[in-house]
Amino acid sequence: MITSLWPRLDEFGARITRYAYKQVEEMMVPQVSHGHRQWRCEAEQAGRILRGQAERKKQFLLILPILEQGMIQPKTEIKRAGKNRKAIKQALSDLREANSDGGNAVELQSLIEQACNFYLANGCFPESYEEMQTIPVLKTGILPYAGDDGPEMGQSYRMSLDLEQKTITLAIRSPDSLGAWSRTWREKTMLLPLPDPILARLKQGEALAPTLREVCEADGTRCAVLDFMVQVGVEAPPPWEEMQSVLGFDWGVRTLVTATVVDLDGHQIGRPFFLDTGGFDGRQARTRRQIDLLKKKVAMLEARRGSFPEGDPRGEPARKKLVVLRREIAQCWRKYEARNRDLAHLAANVLLLLATAAGCRLIAGESLKSLKSTGRGRDAKGKWRNWRNNSQVRGELWRVLRYKCFLAGVRLEWQQPRKTSHTCPHCGASADTYRSPEHLAQVEDWGAWLTCPSCGWNGARDYAAALNIARLGATFITHYLTTGRFYHASIADKAVKPLSYMGSGSALRLPPMVPRNHLLYAGKIYVNGWRNAVKLHSSYVTETMLRLCG
Ligand SMILES: [Zn+2]
Repeated sequence: MITSLWPRLDEFGARITRYAYKQVEEMMVPQVSHGHRQWRCEAEQAGRILRGQAERKKQFLLILPILEQGMIQPKTEIKRAGKNRKAIKQALSDLREANSDGGNAVELQSLIEQACNFYLANGCFPESYEEMQTIPVLKTGILPYAGDDGPEMGQSYRMSLDLEQKTITLAIRSPDSLGAWSRTWREKTMLLPLPDPILARLKQGEALAPTLREVCEADGTRCAVLDFMVQVGVEAPPPWEEMQSVLGFDWGVRTLVTATVVDLDGHQIGRPFFLDTGGFDGRQARTRRQIDLLKKKVAMLEARRGSFPEGDPRGEPARKKLVVLRREIAQCWRKYEARNRDLAHLAANVLLLLATAAGCRLIAGESLKSLKSTGRGRDAKGKWRNWRNNSQVRGELWRVLRYKCFLAGVRLEWQQPRKTSHTCPHCGASADTYRSPEHLAQVEDWGAWLTCPSCGWNGARDYAAALNIARLGATFITHYLTTGRFYHASIADKAVKPLSYMGSGSALRLPPMVPRNHLLYAGKIYVNGWRNAVKLHSSYVTETMLRLCG
């Protein structure tokens, strides 16, 4: 289906209906050999993929005009041709849209890299999205039942819920092992337990059509997963007039996130909060290095196997090893991506929790457009890897935070990042950064310590930036309240109020200062040690924190 509709990809860029299958239905005659509704569910999935690709193509059109030779490092005698990372970074930061949070920056970056890979393989940049993107066909099965007629009338699934007994009764139409579709599928029901979290949601909302999908493990294990979706109402954010304070956060140089609360009169409320990821960065970088290493081995083995003719037994050991190595690479990637996702959820939950604890209904964060680097890698490649790690974690965090805020009725507003880590939050003067309070003789652009030449304020650079971003957030509110218009001020604007710290006299509603070598520290309990923190269940942390704060 996707293959035959691929030439009409652009048409999926506009949504004429909520259901993707309706769009597909208008373009092709249904193949109803195994049931019309069954086909419609398949069409729904094909349509969703095409919609996603059409969005990606729109993003590609943004980067198409800036693709240039400079992004490719030509081959020299000692080096293979490769990507010019500096040029790519520059192009990305130039690609600013005046009115966006930069949430798509990560997407744009991956498109530029994909185009560069195309260049390295073909000697030219792609002229169209379709030229560089192979048709995305499903590798594992997925069937959204949204194309069917609902749980009671469905012709491909039937479902009934028993909230008292906490069970789901489900029947799924399917072929037998010989491929024959039986008419008696409705009689073969499954009884599944309803987990408590779903039950709680069901009491607030309504169940949607489920999705059946297949999961293929790297070791070949296959299993079926039923995604059960519940639609619930979302709490509306309060009117701007009721907002009294802002939680500002900054992506740190040394910490993942630093957060502070500021009110509209220029008072800092409570102390800052640091979310330190400790060994996490190192672990991720190690996993990436491992992936690079495995890839190198794969390339070597492929060359060796290629030196024997097809079917030659001498090529057999290389072939077997390749299977193992590819599996290992897939495992590493999964681990890497799962850790990023867990971290993003954890950080988003912590920010929302802090905002809730401090009564803030606006969270202000630096837009992702700058995707600043921490420059910690030893060589250029290490730096690039770090930068990409960070941009991926941050992109994921922003995405997760955006939807969690939406669900919680909290507003999230991006702020101009320029100069926020080189401005004194106390008096607004331009300030330099240094390696540490002991190294004030030499200015360091990426230094962790900020000292104000005018008023003498000094503190961690990330802390200063978080304060400045909160100030920008406060300005965003006051500007709207006085003019009725939304405006993202920059830190040099006169309207951005200098801060006074209320110090020990203030109601300390945020958890106390965090020792930097621990992820979370509230009261006397260490909630999480990062040493074993591959699997993070952030909801646990949130609950614990709520209890501690509340
Ligand atoms: Zn100052």
